[in-house]
Amino acid sequence: MIYFDNSSTTKPCEQAISAASKALREMWGNPSSLHKMGIESERLIMNAREVIAGSINAEEGEIFFTSGATESNNTAIFSSALTKGKRRKKIITTATEHPSVSAPIKRLEDQGFEVVRIFPGEDGVIDPYEVVKQVDKNTLLVSMIMVNNETGVINDVSTIFKAVKAIDKEVYTHTDAVQGFLKIHVNAKKLCADMISLSGHKVYAPKGVGAIYIKKGLNLKPFIVGGGQEKGIRSGTESVPLICAFAETVKVHSKTQDDRYKKAALLRQRLMERTMTLDGVYLHEFKSFLPYINSLTVKGYKSETLLHFLEEREIYVSSGSACSKGKKSEVLKAFGYSDSELDSTLRISFCGDNTEDDVDRLAYEIQNAMNSLVKIKR
Ligand code: PMP
Repeated sequence: MIYFDNSSTTKPCEQAISAASKALREMWGNPSSLHKMGIESERLIMNAREVIAGSINAEEGEIFFTSGATESNNTAIFSSALTKGKRRKKIITTATEHPSVSAPIKRLEDQGFEVVRIFPGEDGVIDPYEVVKQVDKNTLLVSMIMVNNETGVINDVSTIFKAVKAIDKEVYTHTDAVQGFLKIHVNAKKLCADMISLSGHKVYAPKGVGAIYIKKGLNLKPFIVGGGQEKGIRSGTESVPLICAFAETVKVHSKTQDDRYKKAALLRQRLMERTMTLDGVYLHEFKSFLPYINSLTVKGYKSETLLHFLEEREIYVSSGSACSKGKKSEVLKAFGYSDSELDSTLRISFCGDNTEDDVDRLAYEIQNAMNSLVKIKR
């Protein structure tokens, strides 16, 4: 089996599985209980918080566990609106956000907020100037994706946020760093971000756990209310096993980040070399991109048909983004993909376990598919 769908989810690593099962078996107390069992569970969460904080140069008190990045993104956006939304009504974002950012922002737009969506330039990246010129006294939030999940484009979030804060430090800055975390360096302080969303299952932890970094002193009103866990920011009993698993994978994969990056770059190069000789097959290129995420067009062939052809040969890829489930991707449209490219693009996303032989097999099977499948008529 060859798995090239790591941007959808990753295989949990052994260390994460062991940490989760140990906590499930031995530390199943409620971390809010005042007795010994509760205190032991709470200690596990404290240790995990320290690990996640360390991995992005934050303080422990700035990390709040959530059920995943969808909840982190919803929290960032709705908490911003709850806190300052009466006075400030403008949100600046990109046209290339994951739905867990674009949908909450759309809901606020429907409630009367003004939303400005910046499109990427021809080189794929967001021009900082286009963002900065939109900032005014009415601006509540600037929310920008760090690494796009469909194309791998890396935005210069740090330059954008620094410029935004220089104009008005009251504007909230948020980035969805899910696809960048543990692949490129995410440094909360250098980013000038007030809020950063992270997800566990993109980095070899199980699904159902994530975190949000919230800068000290922000005093956000919570979006999820209830028992007051996570200092009131995210009520709900914490999933100690998943949080432990998240911390373990972060410990392991922080150390291997640079080597994994180099490997992903070699794999991308190999994919480029092996596919460029195939007629109508090309990798999309951008000014700044993450080599883990590769957008590959196979002109004239439907991406879903290709996906199933490859699946029958035990090669797993994605058509566009898993979240768009076969619908034409608005995000790829925003990146300037033509109609025919929208129909014929695969996403090949790597992890540390993929090899050059895997890439060669993929290229071989794409050629095989082109020889066997019927072309789309246009
Ligand atoms: N943001 C991005 C960029 C993503 O790729 C994903 C997952 N597809 C999410 C947010 C949502 O993360 P989760 O599955 O943890 O809710």
